[in-house]
Amino acid sequence: MNILTNADLHCHSVVSDGTLTPEALAQRAKANGVELWSLTDHDEMGGQHRAMAAAKAEGLRYLTGAEISVSFAGQTVHIVGLGMDPDDQALADGLRATRGGREQRAREMADDLARVGIQGAFEGALKYVGNPDLISRSHFARYLVEIGACKDIPEVFRKYLTEGKPGFIPHRWASLGDAVRWITGAGGVAVVAHPGRYPFSATEEYALFTEFKQHGGQGVEVVTGAHNASDVIKYTALCQELGLVASRGSDFHSPDESHTDLGRLPNLPGQLTPVWELLSGRIH
Ligand code: AMP
Ligand code: MN
Ligand code: MN
Ligand code: MN
Repeated sequence: MNILTNADLHCHSVVSDGTLTPEALAQRAKANGVELWSLTDHDEMGGQHRAMAAAKAEGLRYLTGAEISVSFAGQTVHIVGLGMDPDDQALADGLRATRGGREQRAREMADDLARVGIQGAFEGALKYVGNPDLISRSHFARYLVEIGACKDIPEVFRKYLTEGKPGFIPHRWASLGDAVRWITGAGGVAVVAHPGRYPFSATEEYALFTEFKQHGGQGVEVVTGAHNASDVIKYTALCQELGLVASRGSDFHSPDESHTDLGRLPNLPGQLTPVWELLSGRIH
């Protein structure tokens, strides 16, 4: 395991808002040349034992994972945790609390969509949900494409479900400190997911990373499906400035929707320390 390892440490299964099972993801990761894999469902560890068994069957090295939704400076930030004990009680309790309220939020999203003439969105989104505890905007997006309100998922997030657009309901997620402590308390390493995607000012972004570090966060997703070459340069410099390790993950959700497939990513820049160097004792 070195900086050139084909690691994909960020993707989603039917246990959250992906469309493939943990087993199908493991097969696809193997076929795409992934050597070290992690399934990081949103706010949920329910797929971890299946993913671990599937990785073993495919001969893939595996790190447990989850992507936790956090509210910070009025925005939603995602924190990926890697290498946690999948049966840790405090982590399970924290994730359950974070998932809570998704159904109520979804009902309010559907009511708001009804105001612009889109009926039945709650039931429509539910058809795509694999885990009743985890109804998400992705499931609504699939329904909006199904009924022809939008031609594809990116168009949905341009016209609906985001701040100021129909179907957006603000939501209070976990705090940054709690999410980082649930991860580190369960033996894992916390990583800021796809930092290039947040609409923060430079000052807010600096606050995010300094507070993240103060809480015990150690990593940054430098290479992800959501980053372009200049994002990679920017977050490489940030890792070096703040002494953070680097992660790499596609954020793959679906063969039909994701533009970055499992394991099909640029390598991490050679001057960085890969997150898996901190997790050698936790690789299955
Ligand atoms: P939620 O946790 O219910 O707020 O849903 C967030 C999920 O919506 C993310 O994890 C993505 O899968 C999806 N999503 C958010 N913004 C976009 C976007 N611009 N394009 C595609 N998918 C998006
Ligand atoms: Mn998602
Ligand atoms: Mn995310
Ligand atoms: Mn993700």
